[in-house]
Amino acid sequence: MTRLILVLGDQLSESLTALASADKARDLVIMAEVAAETEYVAHHPRKIALILSAMRKFAARLRAMGWGLAYTRLDDPENTGSVSGELLRRASETGAVEVLLTTPGEWRLIQELQDLPLAVRFLPDARFVSRRSDFRNWAKGRKQLRMEWFYREMRRKTGLLMEGDRPVGGKWNYDMENRKVPPKDAVFPVPMRFEPDAITEEVLACVEERFGEHFGTLRPFWFATDRVQALAALDHFVSKALPWFGDYQDAMLTGERFLNHAAISVYLNIGLLEPMEVCRAAEAAWRAGRVPLNSVEGFIRQIIGWREYVRGIYFLEGPGYTTRNFLEHDRELPPLYWGADTRMHCLAEAVAQTRDEAYAHHIQRLMVTGNFALLAGVDPQQVHEWYLAVYADAFEWVEAPNTLGMSQFADGGLVASKPYVSGGAYINRMSDYCKRCFYDVQAKTGPNACPFNALYWHFLDRHRDRFADNPRMGNAYRTWDRMDETRRRQIIADASAFLEKLERRETV
Ligand SMILES: Cc1cc2nc3c(=O)[nH]c(=O)nc-3n(C[C@H](O)[C@H](O)[C@H](O)COP(=O)(O)OP(=O)(O)OC[C@H]3O[C@@H](n4cnc5c(N)ncnc54)[C@H](O)[C@@H]3O)c2cc1C
Ligand code: SF4
Repeated sequence: MTRLILVLGDQLSESLTALASADKARDLVIMAEVAAETEYVAHHPRKIALILSAMRKFAARLRAMGWGLAYTRLDDPENTGSVSGELLRRASETGAVEVLLTTPGEWRLIQELQDLPLAVRFLPDARFVSRRSDFRNWAKGRKQLRMEWFYREMRRKTGLLMEGDRPVGGKWNYDMENRKVPPKDAVFPVPMRFEPDAITEEVLACVEERFGEHFGTLRPFWFATDRVQALAALDHFVSKALPWFGDYQDAMLTGERFLNHAAISVYLNIGLLEPMEVCRAAEAAWRAGRVPLNSVEGFIRQIIGWREYVRGIYFLEGPGYTTRNFLEHDRELPPLYWGADTRMHCLAEAVAQTRDEAYAHHIQRLMVTGNFALLAGVDPQQVHEWYLAVYADAFEWVEAPNTLGMSQFADGGLVASKPYVSGGAYINRMSDYCKRCFYDVQAKTGPNACPFNALYWHFLDRHRDRFADNPRMGNAYRTWDRMDETRRRQIIADASAFLEKLERRETV
């Protein structure tokens, strides 16, 4: 009897376990563009367009490979609006009673599919280097789940940048060499851009009509939407940007949206690229002498380290992870996150490029938008929904541990050993933002002082019970305690006045 083989919008890989276990001769592949998936948060229009266009092209590819395939378009009058609805519809059309799929990357969808009155078989997602069970075994009995230890296991497992059982160059991690400030005359490449073809144009028109109200600019749309293009984008990155990836990994510059970052998370996360092929391409460039070790190690660490680690955390912690709020923060997300005016240049810059590209690099996400939300005590749920909506690479398995864990400390320190908070000095050191800002980054108090400065101390002061004993925060508390009382009072008063302005939704 026919079985239904479900392929989701972030599972566009020919190597997918569901396809490998299916029988071309009798099974039917099901792909569906459904309202429930496009609307559970107000996704950036560019993210929706990327996924729909890549789905349509992947479906055409599977058909050309001889697969029987039923595809539902968003505007299909029969469209039931949800993945489970589409499976039930196709089951009643074909008489199928069994569904085979690669496990989705989101608890919400796993639960929805488990509840179907069909025999649903979930297969492991072999596109990741570490299986969910591998991570569980690694985590078992450990007091702390630190990424660095997991990463070393992954280096041993994959053999990437290894000489026998030792790391090449003698060190596991070259981050100390990776915090440079770019010289004034540095020139940065841009990610490879692709002209929309007829399929993408049709999708863009549909997205414009249906999701034009969502935050984000749709055009010019330049993402790769099939595997051949994604591989070209990877090649371009390896030759043009990877050599300097490590050096300027944490830098931020006005108007430079990508610096030497790869901008490939979108392709990895929907399945157009696979993590091991990306890492092998980077390693080969290093072996050929085209890329220094600090860059290739830093890049590979992000992929087999952080990317695999956050997925492990997401599945280990279960569906409740996204509701955590360790610091009991409850402020509304300020309107500036949706593009309202702000005089804070770093935030204006990060939000504008998020609107225009559905992209911001890691330090902008962590130390600008994330840092501000954490210092201001914004409800982590709202922060999580914002990140999930506005970035083209945002899927819950990767977004939630990064946002709630690493950035907002909402999981109480599972992912981050201390909160990622800083005053303006860090942003000033790593960027040129402060030179163009209304606020004065050097000033600690007064109406023109950089708001990050007072908010930083306000955060430490209000969470003293939680962090005073954290060995990584001891220095900060000692500095605070050494300040004279009048100055401390002034800082707390300034921060409180700023937070009240935020509360009144005034421009800050
Ligand atoms: C608050 C917050 C939210 C984030 N949300 C997402 C998200 O929804 N989706 C997402 O893919 N990444 C997310 N990240 C991680 C990281 O910011 C992006 O992966 C990266 O900016 C993507 O751009 P890039 O391809 O140019 O990455 P590069 O800097 O060039 O890094 C190379 C690759 O490493 C991987 N990577 C790097 N850092 C991480 C990380 N912390 N976690 C997982 N993978 C990583 C990505 O696949 C990336 O493509 C988030 C980070 C923060 C702080
Ligand atoms: S002065 Fe403060 S608010 Fe302005 S750009 Fe620098 S860190 Fe951001």
